[in-house]
Parts: sequence; structure tokens; C-alpha cells
Amino acid sequence: MTRKSHTIADRMRLIDASGIRKVFDLAAKMADPINLSIGQPDFDVPESVKTKAAEAIAQGQNKYTQTQGTAELHEAIARVCKVEFGWDDRRGYLVTSGVSGALLLAMLSLVNSGDEVVLADPYFVMYSHLIHLAGGVPVLMDTYPDFRPDPQKFADAITDKTRLLLLNSPANPTGYVYAEDELRQIADIAAARDLLVISDEIYNLFCYDQPFVSMASVYDNTLLMRGLSKSYGMTGWRIGWCTGPRPIIEKMTMLQQYSFVCAPSMAQAAAPTAMETDMSVQVAAYKKKRDMVVEALGETFGLLAPGGAFYAFVPAPDGEATAFVTRAIANNVLVIPGSVFSSKDTHFRVSYATSDERLAEGLEILRKLA
Ligand code: PMP
Repeated sequence: MTRKSHTIADRMRLIDASGIRKVFDLAAKMADPINLSIGQPDFDVPESVKTKAAEAIAQGQNKYTQTQGTAELHEAIARVCKVEFGWDDRRGYLVTSGVSGALLLAMLSLVNSGDEVVLADPYFVMYSHLIHLAGGVPVLMDTYPDFRPDPQKFADAITDKTRLLLLNSPANPTGYVYAEDELRQIADIAAARDLLVISDEIYNLFCYDQPFVSMASVYDNTLLMRGLSKSYGMTGWRIGWCTGPRPIIEKMTMLQQYSFVCAPSMAQAAAPTAMETDMSVQVAAYKKKRDMVVEALGETFGLLAPGGAFYAFVPAPDGEATAFVTRAIANNVLVIPGSVFSSKDTHFRVSYATSDERLAEGLEILRKLA
């Protein structure tokens, strides 16, 4: 029997990590798995960024920073926004503990109990949990089989209870990249209802077939989130940033003051250096990995080429993802069943963020299993 003193709060009722935990539990028992389940790049942080952080530590930048982030990092973010969006005004900027931090602060600041948040299915697994944590209701918009967002479905999903739309391009787990006309159509729908759009663009550098288009460039009422985790191999450094309507950024900042306090000081000190680093070599290497995946699995599994991020969401044989993933794991390849990211369990996620050699080995095993 559970002890009364160990009772967990009601809000945690819908927070459940069993799907993904099962995969990691299995992985822990494997001696040397080919791991195609990991959501982080296999390249390391650029040397210049490491040096900058080490210098910051040596020089004593080890204390709290201002909650909103350092002035230097705000300037670097403003430069990105000037180049990409032509923004001259200093909007509200907030440096966060990764995009995860920004998402949590945003949900808690915006979503009331019973409010609906409209998002594409499949989706990044954290979204539904954070919406639930805030007392909201995720409203899933089916994007199978090609993961293209159907603007009409977005429009149909909106009710009087809709609080916001949550977009992610390039997307986890599908690798789908929203085209400009798709973003514009969604923007028109949002504008007609005066809805805020959260745009999670953490994979913006990983866009292989067309220039990346941001929701913020077509819709003013966007809460834009970017991060350094994926672009610069800095997942452990915990740096993200967020910009958007000033009153919202101010509330999120206030909440950060009473929760995370600030993003890590030495990581903030090095972040402007990262943001100036050219990552085109790494991105080209990831495009090649994407091509390897499509070449190996495209025909066999009926996989369409994903345009970005570092994932492929692959149709499972007979539409039975968990059964296929169990067989893959028994054959030493770790992938994640679609049910972790979706209301369906028809696909599995391959992360190609690993060495070309390991990837080739893993893809060959998956192909043979099919
Ligand atoms: N958004 C998406 C779509 C992600 O895939 C991830 C990481 N897996 C995050 C946000 C969070 O990344 P971080 O907190 O490291 O910035």
C-alpha cells in the first residue's frame, strides 16, 4: 500500500513515461546496441565554444545571471532576429534552460485548466505532458500519412476553448519541414481567431532540401523558440531562447525567476560564440545520413524523404510498430515505437544522429527484418 506521505499530486496523473522507458530499460540490458533512438547529434561542441565557456568559468562567471539572460546573449539573439526577420525593435527576449525550459514556462504562463492546445500528431512527446501539467487538453491533428499539416484540419480543430497552436518545424519525430505556403495558411487561420502560435524551431539548422522558413517571419503573433542543444551539439549545456509578445515574455521571465532562476552562466557566456559558428559541414554530413536512411529504407518500408531534423518516421511492416520494434531490439537495433509520439502505433522513429558506420549497420538490420 502506498504511504500517505508518498502520495503524488493529482497533476502528475497524466505524466507517464512508460513507452520510452521500456525502450531504455531494454537498451540497458544490451551489451553494444546500435542505438538509433537518441535525440542528440553525434558531433561535439565546437572547440571555440568550449574555450569560451572554460574562460568564463576561470574568470568567475559562475554566479546567477539576470533572470532574462545576459545582455551579450540578448544582443546575439537580437542580431539573429534582425538578419532573419528584419526586426529592429527589441522584442522581449528570454534565455531559458533549453527549449524544454521555454516550453514549460510558456505552458504554465498561458494555459488555463480546460484550455485546448492544438498540435500535429505525431508530436514531440514532451508537448502532451506539459499541456497536461498546465491543466490543458492536447487536441491532436492527424497528419498521417505524409505529415503535411492540412490547414482545414487545423481550422476544424479550433473551438472556443482553443488557447494556442503549437507548431514544430523541422519536426520531431517525423522530420517534416513546413513549407512557406503551409505556414501562411496556418497563420491566416490563427489570425482570424486571434490565436497565439508557439513555434518550436529547435531543428532550424537541420533543413536539407529548401531554405528554412520560420513561422515568425509570416505571423507576428508567434512565440518563437530556438535552442543551441541540437545545432551545436550542446544538449547538456541547457541553453534555449524565446521571443514574442512582450507581456507573455515578461510573465515567463517572472516565472523563471521563481523556478529555474537563470540558464547556466558559463553556457550563456559561450552561446554567442556558438551562434556565430558555421555548422554547414555538420549539417551537410546529416543530409548525407538522411539520404542513407531514405536509400536503405525508402522502398522497403515506403518511407518518404524527411526534409529536416535528424529523424525518419518509418511505416512499420503490417502497421504494427511495437511488434517490429521488439524484433529490432532483439536484433540489437534500438528504435522507438510510434505510440510514444502519437495516438497511433503504426510507425517507428529512427534517429540517424550517429556515425555513418553504425547507421549503415543498423539500417541493414532493419531492412533485413522487413
Ligand atoms: N523541442 C523538440 C522538438 C525537441 O526534439 C527537443 C529535444 N529532444 C526539445 C524541444 C528540447 O530540447 P532542449 O531542452 O535541449 O533545448
